Amino acid sequence: MAATDRGDLTRTAILALLGTGGPLSRTEIARELDLSPATVTQLTRELMGHGMLEELDLKPSRGGRPAVRLGLVGGAGHALGVKVTADHLVLVDVRLDGEVLGSWERPFDPSSADALDELAAAVESAVPGDGPPLLGVGVGVPGSVEDQAAGTVNAPTLGWQAMPVGERLRRRLRLPVLVENDVNALAVAERLYGRGRTHRDFLVVTIGRGVGAAIVADGRVYRGARGGAGEFGHLPVDPDGPMCGCGARGCLEAFVGSAGLLAAARAKSAGRVEAPLGQAAAAGDPAARAVFAEAGAILGRATAGLINVVDPEVVVVLGEGTADWPLWRDGFEQALRAQLYPGRRDISVEVESWDDTSWAQGAAALVLATPFDAAGAAGEQGRLVRARLIGATP
Ligand SMILES: [Zn+2]
Repeated sequence: MAATDRGDLTRTAILALLGTGGPLSRTEIARELDLSPATVTQLTRELMGHGMLEELDLKPSRGGRPAVRLGLVGGAGHALGVKVTADHLVLVDVRLDGEVLGSWERPFDPSSADALDELAAAVESAVPGDGPPLLGVGVGVPGSVEDQAAGTVNAPTLGWQAMPVGERLRRRLRLPVLVENDVNALAVAERLYGRGRTHRDFLVVTIGRGVGAAIVADGRVYRGARGGAGEFGHLPVDPDGPMCGCGARGCLEAFVGSAGLLAAARAKSAGRVEAPLGQAAAAGDPAARAVFAEAGAILGRATAGLINVVDPEVVVVLGEGTADWPLWRDGFEQALRAQLYPGRRDISVEVESWDDTSWAQGAAALVLATPFDAAGAAGEQGRLVRARLIGATP
């Protein structure tokens, strides 16, 4: 490793420490990272010169001289996040500290021959002319990203096979571009701004149009051999169940994805119940209510199985389907607790607030997490993001 790379990673480690743990004094930074005081003084001076750190209040001390604490400057950089769906794009502009500066929605046809040009044009239209450095673009896709360095996407629901999303966007936008499965991107956001601040092992489960999961193990998103880990929606539930979009029968998603829920409600009510199903259930429709209760139980059993296998500290439930969570909850809780392995039955399942830009915020977090990625897990694109942050664009 070249000396400059080592300096880069040490600066990253300092940012990571302050970004995830809050302000600290120079002495505390040196102790936490096992660095010499001289090194900390030099690197923090550089980071302050780049506008990334600032001196805050004096830390109260018992005897001795009070020390100045250093904190991260939230506006030192920002990133664009894009969520790709089968019929539209959601874009957000997010600061380093997670504050959303703006959001946009654009129609999108992933099956069009020039889909990647349309995607790039949508991103270009959201790039601001001035302001703090734009660190890069994060793209969340409902599929798997096999080669993360190239950003090659396989997404059956978009009709994409081996789509060179990252490579094409990078060439056109001349910015670092990180592409990842959308649920994994949410997990990266949780690691940065949510559960990851207090937990190293957690699960993210999403409900909505699709059903997904991300596994964070020892502080890192587990991607599997081909980037396909966490396809929770395709957990087999019943060999005689409904057909799933993946071509198999009786997957979890075929039962509890939004299309499966509506089909079940229509079957129960001789076609009477209409979408949106949550509204029908909230208005007291018995068929709609029964479908949510059953879906809660199916999801609860499946989630218990996942917990028994992975052993997380906590489970976070996200996705547009959480708007109806009160309808799922009783069925879910009962089935989950009954199926959990002894010793894990009190695990906490937390349903977080959700809005239309949450997926895209996850995508932006792919970029915003890289300055804090002291292990260099984001590879070459992550290095380029860090270079832009410290104003050394190659
Ligand atoms: Zn399936």
